[in-house]
This record gives sequence, C-alpha cells and structure tokens, in this order.
Amino acid sequence: MRRATIGVLGGGQLGRMLALAGHRLGLWLRFYDRAPDAVAGHVGELQVGEFTDAARLERFAAGLDVVTYEFENVPIDTARHLSRLVAVLPAPIALEQAQDRLREKDLFTRLGIATPPFRDVESRAALDLAVADLGLPAVLKTRRLGYDGKGQAVLRGPAEVDRAWDRLAGSAPLILESLVAFEREVSIIAARSTRGEVAFYPLVENEHRDGILRLSRCPAPRSTAPVERQARDAAAALMAAMDYAGVLTVEFFDVGGRLLANEMAPRVHNSGHWTIDGAATSQFENHLRAILGLPLGDCSPTGHAAMINLIGTHPPLERLAAIPGARVHLYGKEPRPGRKLGHVTIVESDGGVLARRLDEARRSVLPP
Ligand code: AMP
Repeated sequence: MRRATIGVLGGGQLGRMLALAGHRLGLWLRFYDRAPDAVAGHVGELQVGEFTDAARLERFAAGLDVVTYEFENVPIDTARHLSRLVAVLPAPIALEQAQDRLREKDLFTRLGIATPPFRDVESRAALDLAVADLGLPAVLKTRRLGYDGKGQAVLRGPAEVDRAWDRLAGSAPLILESLVAFEREVSIIAARSTRGEVAFYPLVENEHRDGILRLSRCPAPRSTAPVERQARDAAAALMAAMDYAGVLTVEFFDVGGRLLANEMAPRVHNSGHWTIDGAATSQFENHLRAILGLPLGDCSPTGHAAMINLIGTHPPLERLAAIPGARVHLYGKEPRPGRKLGHVTIVESDGGVLARRLDEARRSVLPP
C-alpha cells in the first residue's frame, strides 16, 4: 500500500510533533516554511519558500494527499490557492475565521457561544464610543496577526486610551474587549474527522505569563460537568458550523463557572501537548486521523497531567532528565527570549502526587 503523504504549512514545533506522531502510523509529512532552519525539517521533508510563491507552492503540493497547517498566520490566499490543487483541511474558511478576532467573535456570538463584550474599532472616534459603551478596564487588540499577547494594550484609565491608540492604530483594524476578571483560563482540544466523528479531551487549565502559556493541567482541577459541557458544546457547534476536519482548540475565561470564549485555533495547540504522554491518543495523532478520515483515537487521560513550557532558556538536558517523573521534549531550537524551546510533562495517577512533583519540577525549570 502506498503511504499517505501529508503536507503541512508551517514547520515549527507543532509540525515536528505532528511528524513524530505520523511516523508511528507510517505517514510521511512534508513541510513548507519560510525558514530554512524550521525544526520540523529535522524529522520530515522541508521545502523552503515564501507563502506567496505560487510556483513553489505547486511543487510542494505535487503528490500530496492532503494539506494542513500548524501555523495560523498562513495567508488565506495561500490556503485557497492550494485548495484548488489538493484537499486542504481544516478548510480555509476556518483559518479565515480564526485569523480575525472580530469575525471569530461574531461567529461565536452567532452560534450562541458567550464571549467577553466586544466592539469593532475602525477609527479613533469608534474607540471613544467603544470605551463609553464597554467601560474600562478594557483590552485593545489588533484584529489580525496578534498571538501570545502581542498586538494588545490594556486600558485601565482614560489616560491610556490615546497611548494605546498611538501604539496599535498602525496595525489597524482593531477590536476592543472588556477586560475580564476571570478566575482562570481553560481550553478544550476537540477533533472532528472528515467522516463527522467527534471526540473531546477533558478541559485543560492554563496559566499564562506575559501572554505566553507557561503551564497546562489536565484534567483541569475543580472542573465540573456543567463547565465541561459548555466547552464541549462550544467546540461541537463551531466544528459543525465550519464542517471542520482536524483538531480544533477553543480557549476560554472561566468566570465563576461561566465560560467566555476568547479565541479558537484551527490546529493542534500548546495546551494539548500533555496528550503525548498523558492521553491514550495524542492530539497530534488525532489531527492526522481526523484529516485522513480514519477512526479517531481514544482521548481519555491516562492520569493527572501537567505540562510546563520551556521558554527562552532552559536548564541543560542532564538536569531536566533528573526531574522525577518528567518526560522531556526539546524542539531543537536556538534559545531566544520568549521562544518556546520545549516542554516537560509529568503524569501521575494521583492528583496530590502530581501537585508535589509539579512543585519540584517548576522550581527546577522555571526562572524565578
Ligand atoms: P490572546 O492573544 O487573546 O489569547 O490574549 C493573551 C492573554 O491575554 C490571554 O491568555 C489572557 O491572559 C489575556 N487576555 C486577553 N484578552 C483578555 C480579556 N478580554 N480579558 C482579560 N484578559 C485577557
């Protein structure tokens, strides 16, 4: 039997982990990235080119069964161009919705998924109206190309409105959102196959610092059935509305047991890395299964899992390897401030043991 060949737009660590999951299934992944040193190239074929280079993209697509993405800011025209040559999954419409915070929140609203109150900000005058409408504190965000907290300004008082506008207006259009006093941030990783089969991992609790994910825990501590239900219903509605195929992540703010959707990612997600070591089937394998129309794998957790991101710098492998119970994943990237270089997952059958192991591990790997 000919093995399936999957093309992936983007060649970062998410692509690398997709390739590692694909190897076990006898699948071969071909990546397309602008950077010749993209780390997925260590474990799969890497083709280097601009996302606007039609000739190179056509060479990339030759012989592929399906194209997917591991990078959200793939230009929508690139995805559409490829979709005329080969199946692109999730379909480009999902990418288009997720790339624009306003369209994304409009879609949430249309589907009855609660979000923080938000307003479109098309001009300086519109910002004043939005501030008057929503009140302060609020967050001004670029509608497009923001990630990990970039392209955002928190407005706590009227004096900050001008400054935020001056900083962000160059990258307009913008959106204003109420600053939510959430208890915690959670996410759901869901999958839907081309055959319409759906599956959900349990809710994940996430800690961010400076807009970057630091720690994920699954199952989310103190999670209740109604909270899990809200997250699953939201993901299911989005996947059905977009006739989605692949893994979809939805991030929420938990406000007293009520979930407000912040954003979605039409791809595997950092808050699902724990699934490699802590679930019967990883998110990476389930993404591949979903886009190939294979039966989805079991999403059950095998214990209580915690995942710590290694950001900017990390102790040498010798020290990481000495952390009791730690499963170490390094992506082969050069250290740089704010860069995701790897992660460490700990899985324990007992939540109390996990909490102790996590404390030890955090002391070993996190900067003070
Ligand atoms: P985002 O790029 O939208 O995921 O934002 C990055 C982080 O900023 C989030 O994970 C939150 O910690 C924080 N944040 C974003 N939007 C809001 C909001 N409307 N209210 C409170 N915190 C927010």
